Amino acid sequence: MNAIVIFGAPGSGKGTQAKMLEQCLGIPHVSTGEVLRQRIRSGNGSDVAATMKSGRLVPDDVVNRIVEERLSEPDAASGFILDGYPRTKAQAEHLSVWFDGRGIHEVVIHLVVDYNVIITRLTGRRQCPACGTLYNLVSQPPKEDELCDLDGTKLITRDDDGEAVIRERLAEYERQTRPVLEFYRSAGRPVAAVEAGNDPPEKIFQRIRQALESHDRTQDGR
Ligand code: AMP
Repeated sequence: MNAIVIFGAPGSGKGTQAKMLEQCLGIPHVSTGEVLRQRIRSGNGSDVAATMKSGRLVPDDVVNRIVEERLSEPDAASGFILDGYPRTKAQAEHLSVWFDGRGIHEVVIHLVVDYNVIITRLTGRRQCPACGTLYNLVSQPPKEDELCDLDGTKLITRDDDGEAVIRERLAEYERQTRPVLEFYRSAGRPVAAVEAGNDPPEKIFQRIRQALESHDRTQDGR
């Protein structure tokens, strides 16, 4: 069972790398942010819309339930990639209990990126509303001005990618999410730090593959 947790600050490239892993390993990419945005689009997210727009975190019990339901679906039976969860110590504890009950061992990949790089990335970030492909006007621009390379749809900026909201999301990361790393360390669970700064996504992806392979070798040698 491949249980991979992609961890990092907003804008560290979790979504891009999780999508690449999904393609490569054939296991589903589960993004709590995407599930919540989907819920808002379908008209069932009035309880979380304002919180997300402000850059704060939605309540633990809401995301815990989303993740449990999603990971119980048949396509996640042989593995999955978590992106954007856990984001608080309480979520990490909840997930650990859930994993322990099912004999699942996770590996956490921590994408390490400098703050200035993150700000540049987030302000230039665009997404195709039709197929979800991510772009960056600076580092990964679409071929044609603000149109999706795959289906030609006009790209959009996420509601929470404005500058004030970006600051709040980074503050939430410092307050609530970074401490999750201490939780994993003190629980003796594996965390692999991967340098994910200015290199192209393919190069960062190679580092992630190496980290996963070296983790698998350690497990085999046990
Ligand atoms: P993301 O797409 O991962 O950047 O998430 C976008 C927004 O969704 C976050 O700023 C939060 O408001 C909310 N969100 C996503 N995942 C979580 C989570 N694990 N815990 C709490 N809020 C979350």
